[in-house]
Amino acid sequence: DDDRMITGNRRPEDVDAALRPKALDEFVGQKAARENLRVFIAAARNRGDALDHVLFHGPPGLGKTTLAQILARELGVGFRATSGPVIAKAGDLAALLTNLEPRDVLFIDEIHRLNPAVEEVLYPAMEDRALDLMIGEGPSARSVRIDLPPFTLVGATTRAGLVTTPLRDRFGIPVRLQFYSVDELEQVVRRAAGLLDLDLTDDGAREIAARSRGTPRIAGRLLRRVRDFAHVAGDGRVDAKIADTSLNRLEVDKLGLDAMDRRYLTMIADIYKGGPVGVETLSAGLSEARDSLEEVVEPFLIQAGLVARTARGRMLNPLAWKHLGLTPPAGAPP
Ligand code: ADP
Repeated sequence: DDDRMITGNRRPEDVDAALRPKALDEFVGQKAARENLRVFIAAARNRGDALDHVLFHGPPGLGKTTLAQILARELGVGFRATSGPVIAKAGDLAALLTNLEPRDVLFIDEIHRLNPAVEEVLYPAMEDRALDLMIGEGPSARSVRIDLPPFTLVGATTRAGLVTTPLRDRFGIPVRLQFYSVDELEQVVRRAAGLLDLDLTDDGAREIAARSRGTPRIAGRLLRRVRDFAHVAGDGRVDAKIADTSLNRLEVDKLGLDAMDRRYLTMIADIYKGGPVGVETLSAGLSEARDSLEEVVEPFLIQAGLVARTARGRMLNPLAWKHLGLTPPAGAPP
């Protein structure tokens, strides 16, 4: 369901654009990744060469697209963006690649969803900066090789495991993005409030950060909604009280879990006595796509220590029972 308040899914109109940090120095968190990228950018610039290909992976809304844009900006090169499912034919990719200026960044979101025929064109493009195209059909068909300018492919995926090995191996710089700490999200919320020209108190920033599911996109979205409540129900000032009231009305709980998260936990508790239960079974029971459970719902629940992924299926941890206000059945693992 794309209308879920806090899935982190991108909306077509991209309301996120206004809040995107434009430089590496403005980008909050992901310290290790940021420092490494800074070195690789400086080295590529010094050599006058294209940056090696970069693969960002991690749950939606953690800053993959933002970082790709920052890379291009810091490299001082052009930025082209597309997405895996949009590139239907090998020819579409060839057109994109042959139109790049030297050292440009080509960003492919959802790169795990490239069609295999397109993906094969990408291998020599990434490795040898060359396109092998078939011209004509039947007995007169022949293959021609076209040289490409040096370029940087930046791929993004929510699931590194779904990127094929040959493709993954061609990225010199794989970067895994982590969920953000509450402190980091507090900085994100403050920064966004500044850009939106909002009156935000310290405890207001804290409350929103703590309930943003470790995800900057959600922090930005919750801030906007709380702002609406503050303007309509209050004096426009965003403090912890108005944040708490607004987020409760939006069914975002103290841990930042939304209605879907709680349905997921409750189903494992009530019907499967805490698990283990397979993801397919949960997907059917919740009428929610397995992919969306694995890419959006579970990563945060696992990271928050509420759920464990075991070989036999998903299991609730003691913290989840406590959060739901339920008592684990006798004989459940401690
Ligand atoms: P992804 O591509 O991983 O789904 P995005 O790069 O589109 O995520 O980020 C979503 C939104 O979250 C952006 O609009 C940006 O405003 C915000 N954001 C992401 N990462 C950061 C960050 N480190 N600091 C500040 N804002 C961020």
